Amino acid sequence: MEQISNEFEKLVKKQKLTCDQTQINIDKLINQINDSIQKIDNDSSQSSTVLTLLSNKLKTLTSQTIDNHKELYSSISKYSKSIDRKLKTNLDTIWKPNVLAGKEEIINSILMSHFIREGQFDLAETFSKESGIPISDEKKNQFQDLFNIVEGIKRKDLGPALKWASEKRDILKKNNSNLEFELHKLQYIQYLINNDIPSAIQYAKSNFGIFGETNFKEIKRLACSILYIKHLDNSPYSDLLAPSLWDDIESQFKRDFCSIYGFSSESPLYTAIMVGASSIPPLIKIDTILKVKKNIDWSANSELPVEIPLLDSQRYHTVFTCPVSKEQVDCNGKDNYPTMLLCGHIISKESLLGLCKGNNIYKHKFKCPYCPTESIEAQAKRVYF
Ligand SMILES: [Zn+2]
Repeated sequence: MEQISNEFEKLVKKQKLTCDQTQINIDKLINQINDSIQKIDNDSSQSSTVLTLLSNKLKTLTSQTIDNHKELYSSISKYSKSIDRKLKTNLDTIWKPNVLAGKEEIINSILMSHFIREGQFDLAETFSKESGIPISDEKKNQFQDLFNIVEGIKRKDLGPALKWASEKRDILKKNNSNLEFELHKLQYIQYLINNDIPSAIQYAKSNFGIFGETNFKEIKRLACSILYIKHLDNSPYSDLLAPSLWDDIESQFKRDFCSIYGFSSESPLYTAIMVGASSIPPLIKIDTILKVKKNIDWSANSELPVEIPLLDSQRYHTVFTCPVSKEQVDCNGKDNYPTMLLCGHIISKESLLGLCKGNNIYKHKFKCPYCPTESIEAQAKRVYF
């Protein structure tokens, strides 16, 4: 990587040099032309000689410039080849196009969802017409609302966000979200920034009351900040002026909005691609190892032979697969659901009952399938994800 970086530096220098030289040549060209015009104006009988001289000079300068550019392009092409040599990976071994065969409709639906949740509504309409996948109007309207409100936040207009948060107050509270207060806080800060004490006090009186129980400390702090209104940036309250507050409120709004409607805060397509891309190096490695050592093709199994490290934001727990039965278990199921054994291992209720059955003589005592711990059915606890 260091070598590529060095080569890049060299290329940037070369590009700058070529640019400077070209500029100098162009200036020279202009000067030559102006000189010639001057000479002809002074003595028109010399025009033929002057023009011949000018033509020769122009040819020389033009060919110099072309040569410089040729050199630059040859360096660019060398650089791109060097990147290919260093970074190009043969993906053939882990590329399994058949996996996606017959799943065009699912893929198109995923793409459609992505366009909608990215606010690309026109693109979604066109895609819907071309792919035949219907647009979910409900989802589209929800995201349309989200984007209108986010647009407002970007314009520093908190009105639409505040209206939405007040309408969803109960559910936000249930989700332990502080969003409505944070929005009011930011609105209040705008009055401070504008040096408008009466409006700030009025705003606080009208809006902070309902948050007294949950945000009293913060409200006190906001009230005291008025004392420093003339020089907030140089006061213990300077954090209230941080420009990042707007980015924070935007992300918090998106997160809480998606959470209320049951959407993940990041596009599933984006997450899948990020996870897929980060899985490529370990998969190539394991593929090479398996082929050399045991001659096993990992693609024959439905599970990956290695653990792929994921960021917390890329982990989802909406689906639980029982490690014993290998079946997906509904986390909210009535009869079958995830249960945690005494040792902390989690299996499905059905698998648990299966394990107890064969051990009646020990009063339902059974051994965990993954560790030596023994327990009885009553010790297993239902787990909610
Ligand atoms: Zn265990």
